[in-house]
Amino acid sequence: MRLIICDPTDASAIETMRAAGIEVDVRDTITLEELETVIADYHIMVVRSRTTVRAPLIDKATNLKAVIRGGVGVDNIDVAYAESKGIEVRNTPAASSNSVAELTIGYLFALARQIPQVTATMKDGKWEKKAFSKGSELAGKTLGIVGCGRIGAMVGEKAAALGMAVLGYDPFIAEMASCILKEEDLDEIFARSDFITVHVPHTDGTHYILDAAAFAKMKDGVYIVNCGRGGTVDEAALCDALASGKVAGAALDVFEDEKVERGQRLMAFPQVIGSPHIGAGTREATARVGGEVAQIAIEIARR
Ligand code: NAD
Repeated sequence: MRLIICDPTDASAIETMRAAGIEVDVRDTITLEELETVIADYHIMVVRSRTTVRAPLIDKATNLKAVIRGGVGVDNIDVAYAESKGIEVRNTPAASSNSVAELTIGYLFALARQIPQVTATMKDGKWEKKAFSKGSELAGKTLGIVGCGRIGAMVGEKAAALGMAVLGYDPFIAEMASCILKEEDLDEIFARSDFITVHVPHTDGTHYILDAAAFAKMKDGVYIVNCGRGGTVDEAALCDALASGKVAGAALDVFEDEKVERGQRLMAFPQVIGSPHIGAGTREATARVGGEVAQIAIEIARR
């Protein structure tokens, strides 16, 4: 069984696959053009988000049995077309959940105490003790979670442990962890939360789930966190809500356009903090993703 690694993958996972008898070629900087010339030699390909797997490549993958995506989203793979050609598409959905949940919690603290902004003043040699002594505690505040799947639920558990009241909205989940109060109406989340965090995928049903109408229903001075997917928050509406003071601050790891605009409109607001889609970017998540990729590859190779 021959496997090609197309994107950077944990070294111990590669060793595990080799030890199981899989012939692994690491080509993690390969271009799409090169890949098209060699793909017929492989039975399994491993990608993360760098490599796109679309029809022209799939048509040349005449021996491919499976594409394994290390990570959650499979937007970079034409899943339906691959499956129509008998190619299985697998991912590692749970491996990075805790890392994303921890980043979200980190952002709650950072927003409540303006940690990045005050750090910037210290680096400028300033001592703005008075200006930055008006933060708030998380304990006793209400966190509204939109989307209570793997990550949303973990955020809820961690926030509850910090003493927050946690409300969750997810019409597709029958039962939630006991620390999350299930709300049937999204407007209740908007009306009652001091902090709102979004953990839904970006679909037709979740596009702009936080839009101008949603912001209008929120408490004055609400804080927004999005470590889910760009496109779930209407960034133009968020800019307006920040400008008017309706939203006191926002923390964003994902953006509508991560290639060209890259969240720059939002980052221009001093009360907005953010990161370049690093939610899953921890050593632990990388190791877990690698471990799951290796497990899936070995399972497929042994069939
Ligand atoms: P998940 O599938 O376990 O949970 C998503 C939840 O959203 C599901 O429970 C689903 O029922 C719910 N949902 C769908 N439509 C909804 C709606 N209209 N209203 C309310 N809830 C709705 O996914 P997950 O693993 O928890 O991931 C959540 C998001 O985080 C995904 O978009 C994923 O791509 C993203 N993510 C981001 C990073 C990052 O680096 N920032 C890393 C991993 C995952």
